[in-house]
Amino acid sequence: MGNNRKTSPNKNTIDSTLRSISSGKRRMPKSGFILLILLYMLATVIVIKTSHEAGADYTLMGRSIPLVRFTGVFSSLANMCTIFLVIFYGKLGFVVSLCLMGAQYAHMIFDFFYHKNYSSLAGMFTSMVTFVAIIVIYIIRNRAEQYQRSLVESAITDKLTGLPNRFAGREYLSRIMKRGEKVVYVAADINNFKSINDTMGYEVGNRILIEVADRWRQLADGGTTGTFDLVAHISGDEFGISIQGYQSDEDVVNTINMFKEELERKITIDDYDYYVKASYGYAEFPTDAEDLESLISFANLTLHDVKRRGNTDLVLRYSPDLLQSEKTLQIEHIIREALDSDTIFCHLQPQYDINHKLRGFEALARLKNADGTYISPVDFIPVAEKTGLIDQVDMRIFHKAAKFLESAIQSGKNDISISVNISVKHLLKNNFMDDIREIINTYKIGPENLEIEITESVMIESVKRAQEIIEEVKRLGIKVAIDDFGTGYSSLSYLHNFPANLLKIDKSFIDAMSTGESSQKYVESIISIGHVLGLEVISEGVETEGQLEILKGIHCDLIQGYIWGRPMPPEEAMKLVND
Ligand code: C2E
Ligand code: CA
Ligand code: CA
Repeated sequence: MGNNRKTSPNKNTIDSTLRSISSGKRRMPKSGFILLILLYMLATVIVIKTSHEAGADYTLMGRSIPLVRFTGVFSSLANMCTIFLVIFYGKLGFVVSLCLMGAQYAHMIFDFFYHKNYSSLAGMFTSMVTFVAIIVIYIIRNRAEQYQRSLVESAITDKLTGLPNRFAGREYLSRIMKRGEKVVYVAADINNFKSINDTMGYEVGNRILIEVADRWRQLADGGTTGTFDLVAHISGDEFGISIQGYQSDEDVVNTINMFKEELERKITIDDYDYYVKASYGYAEFPTDAEDLESLISFANLTLHDVKRRGNTDLVLRYSPDLLQSEKTLQIEHIIREALDSDTIFCHLQPQYDINHKLRGFEALARLKNADGTYISPVDFIPVAEKTGLIDQVDMRIFHKAAKFLESAIQSGKNDISISVNISVKHLLKNNFMDDIREIINTYKIGPENLEIEITESVMIESVKRAQEIIEEVKRLGIKVAIDDFGTGYSSLSYLHNFPANLLKIDKSFIDAMSTGESSQKYVESIISIGHVLGLEVISEGVETEGQLEILKGIHCDLIQGYIWGRPMPPEEAMKLVND
């Protein structure tokens, strides 16, 4: 540990960093200190010279300068320098001022008795006043500083435990990080502390916290961990430990384990024994996190993961996967809330025949973050699938889409079709057909206006079961589209046996058409195969006139894409219907 002297900390750096946090003020520059001393000496020399050679002018570059008339000014200047030294440089300034003035007095006294030079008597008097003034200033300044320090100290010290508080802990870390030194931050949280508080009362809870703090402070200060540690009390039952001066991750885990052992020793309060445990998660600057906020939040994230796993013997280091699983959890939470408050929205994207006549719409799910921004279905649909919420999401959209269709039919448009996306997971569920019947029975719509979109992958997974369900769907009179066609690895034989109505060519192939003739030929052959199998073909994600022209040329039946319409809220879609 501490192989590199320049960047390795030691106990002194911990102390001095803490001290500099508690002093809370900026250092005055050294150059100012030297300048004041030089100015003082210059002014004093001029005063002494002029007092010896009263009446004499000084000649500088041929010009005569009556310096003697400014003796008073230079003497005041010297006095001011000593006052400034005390004001700006505290104790050091005070000592230096005393020495300077002492030397000046010695000279004056010598002058007085030896040279019988009385001219400096007046100056001596003002110097005496200055002398008293700097003593008074020094005392006042000291008191103010002490008061300020006690204020700052109480602001950075946790009242209950006497440990540095959250602010001090953060400030300490941020100073280390500014120096570019590596540091580990451990978030520690006492397990089931709430139940101790609830059953034994806050008084006991507080005494346990104080005991924990004492043990940890002693361990950190004792130097037995082999690393340089600082413990801060963050709040309630949360503590933060900063660790430096380690060689490897093993050293870090060792240190954390020592804190763990120290905590897990029996705590006795009023003849009761308590066995307290905590959970620990840590992250390292700069490897895991590059700034203070990330460092702390990554350590906390890891801590929560340890808590979730319920295994407190685990000391876990942050890994980026955690961020991903945290994001998944957040999205799951948002989906659940949106399901509860019925705020999963349905947007509708128009589909047209090749002559730009409206065929119908694809229903697409929309979900909003707390800040009002949309979360892409590309992000939340997989989470819904993973967490078993997908059938609920699909059904919400299905209901909204069916309601829209009902309104369209009521306004006299009987030939509008609505496509809804059905996840394979949902399709293969036992009650899928019940869900479909529920829709047909709830709204005044005909099944012939409905279409379900299933991705090509369904043809590979559970072929038999999927085929049966889809046949049942078709028997009800509902159409079936194969979504994202071309992206999976399904073979022609699957497609041949598959009871679909519509092929949706994936956007990636439409995009690729502009890159060369072979891609164009590929799309053309998908369209031909579709036609041979008796299917209609729709191109998805059509954005440009160029793509449109090609698709017309190769006999694509239907078009969906930004070129003719983006996904839109139902009210806007209704305007398109009524156009
Ligand atoms: P998808 O079914 O392939 O839907 C087409 C996606 O392409 C939509 O993205 C649509 O907004 C986008 N799109 C359409 N035309 C264009 C275009 O010209 N340019 C570009 N750049 N994009 C275009 P969206 O709405 O983000 O949906 C993404 C995927 O999420 C959908 O892909 C679908 O697989 C899934 N999804 C959406 N809603 C639902 C739902 O209610 N249930 C299920 N299971 N999946 C859904
Ligand atoms: Ca789709
Ligand atoms: Ca698609």
